[in-house]
Amino acid sequence: MLKFKIGDTVKITAGKDHGREAKIELVLPKENKVVIPGVNMYKKHVKGTGENKGGIYDLPRALGFGKIALLCPKCKKQTRVGFSLIKNDKIRICKKCGKEIDSK
Ligand SMILES: [Zn+2]
Repeated sequence: MLKFKIGDTVKITAGKDHGREAKIELVLPKENKVVIPGVNMYKKHVKGTGENKGGIYDLPRALGFGKIALLCPKCKKQTRVGFSLIKNDKIRICKKCGKEIDSK
């Protein structure tokens, strides 16, 4: 189980977007990275091919797990993610308030 999931609200803790809060759009489990729209943007030069127009696009670059911190939906604080077992189900908990992060 990963520390971060799509839809989590996180705070950027490193890099040029340090301090910003945003939602995770995509998780790359193999790389331990996430993609957040509008964060860690870079300009990509794309050559036009056939119907695709070339140009310069702003694209988000994936951020490592170490550069983000979860904002707990329960206590609203910046926190670390812990894990707990409930009836053989592994759940994510907030290390600050101890509450389950994914409420059903
Ligand atoms: Zn909490």
